[in-house]
Amino acid sequence: MSVAATTSPAVGTLYVSRFPTSRGMPRVTMALRSNVISVGSILTKLQQDCATPFPVIRHVADSMTADMRAGLAVDGGSNLKMILSYVDSLPSGNEKGLFYALDLGGTNFRALRVQLGGKEDRVVATEFEQLSIPQELMFGTSEELFDFIASTLAGFAEKESEKFHLPHGRQREIGFTFSFPVKQTSIDSGILMKWTKGFAVSGTAGRDVVACLNEAMERQGVDMRVSALVNDTVGTLAGARYWDDDVLVAVILGTGTNACYVERTDCIPKLQGPRSSSGRTIINTEWGAFSDGIPLTVFDRDMDAASINPGEQIFEKTISGMYLGEIARRALVTMAEEGSLFGMAVPNKLSTPFALRTPDICAMQQDNSDDLQAVGSILHNVAGVESSLSERRIVVEVCDAIVRRGGRLAGAGIVGILQKMEQDSKGTIFNKRTVVAMDGGLYEHYPQYRSYLQDAVTELLGSDTSKNIVIEHSKDGSGIGAALLAATNSKYDHDF
Ligand code: ADP
Ligand code: MG
Repeated sequence: MSVAATTSPAVGTLYVSRFPTSRGMPRVTMALRSNVISVGSILTKLQQDCATPFPVIRHVADSMTADMRAGLAVDGGSNLKMILSYVDSLPSGNEKGLFYALDLGGTNFRALRVQLGGKEDRVVATEFEQLSIPQELMFGTSEELFDFIASTLAGFAEKESEKFHLPHGRQREIGFTFSFPVKQTSIDSGILMKWTKGFAVSGTAGRDVVACLNEAMERQGVDMRVSALVNDTVGTLAGARYWDDDVLVAVILGTGTNACYVERTDCIPKLQGPRSSSGRTIINTEWGAFSDGIPLTVFDRDMDAASINPGEQIFEKTISGMYLGEIARRALVTMAEEGSLFGMAVPNKLSTPFALRTPDICAMQQDNSDDLQAVGSILHNVAGVESSLSERRIVVEVCDAIVRRGGRLAGAGIVGILQKMEQDSKGTIFNKRTVVAMDGGLYEHYPQYRSYLQDAVTELLGSDTSKNIVIEHSKDGSGIGAALLAATNSKYDHDF
């Protein structure tokens, strides 16, 4: 729906009947008149600046493909780091035993254990615990953060029920999901390159995060070991692949975003040393750093400038959950300041960075009532304002423009990965069933985002080819995937 169609009639009538042009018009009337115009024009400009018509998504997909190739050619060859995961064999379904997983994401911290029963029994039992990461730990020291993780794990391990069995004399093994850019040096070690998603923990960058965790476990007296360091996308791919052999790509859309896929080792020029016997390995793209051709608004640029990593993670900043609400908030603040949206004063609460969260804009977009009651109450709770129906409609349009761009760009990125694989292995991707496993709170909970994403994929691939591409929420998420990778990389003898 266009802006003018939603907002102008109501506002226009008001303007014409109450404020006829006259030289003696009071100042407030002048202000209202221009304000009415400027809210509409700010919205139109926003919609234009973040529009993603076919040529834009086509360009993004092609550019993603080109950046992937450049990053595979040589380290530092492109924005995309194309990190080797050291995961050369995926779960087969035969895995057996008790394994743990830890997941440090961005918003949440999860600990999970799983008892695997092999091909027949599969997942015999799971238990998990989830905590949100205390805000102060995001800005604290490395020791504080890892001590928190180790002590949470210790508490969780103590509560292991009798459904779980560890053979005598063995250490509990962990798949550690760490969803930040890591230069992996082996399956169980990796150097943190930089924090993302608003984290600024001192003393971790440049260090092996497994060593950080091992040291913390020692300090906390936890007798466990990390067998696999796993990026969350890689965990999602492994977890989904456990159930379905057609899974070749995994994408996370949560607080941040990332994607990984199964690559042929002979297509990785930068790969040195021995190749895996399978001839395949998982590449972690770190696609959040992609930036070519992304349509940006003034609100994106301002948010980026105010962020802790200006100029970086531009794809992530336009498509992931940490940022969508904030971009919308910035647009609404400008509308309030320049167009008196919500009255003459700019609401204080709305002026607080990150006050409007992606789950809020998601909830507003689910409101199908005639008077947009839920939109009104969310605006009341978040921004402390009473809103008119026409104002609520504008708010929904703002959210929709930003979420549409996010979903469509994510879809274009997925097509970029798929077409790279298809170019190298003709007929193996587009002409057969290929599954893209999706996970993350944004994908899981935002129906409009999901459908914009699917629309872009269908537009780019055409309706026939896109029928072969199954984009689906991965039912176990990355947790079980990480535990499965701890199993396949267990230090103990195993025959799976
Ligand atoms: P993480 O990325 O921290 O591992 P999740 O995958 O659980 O975490 O995703 C959490 C993110 O998902 C939140 O930061 C938020 O942006 C988004 N999210 C959570 N709930 C919703 C919701 N109801 N609607 C839209 N987005 C949501
Ligand atoms: Mg996560």
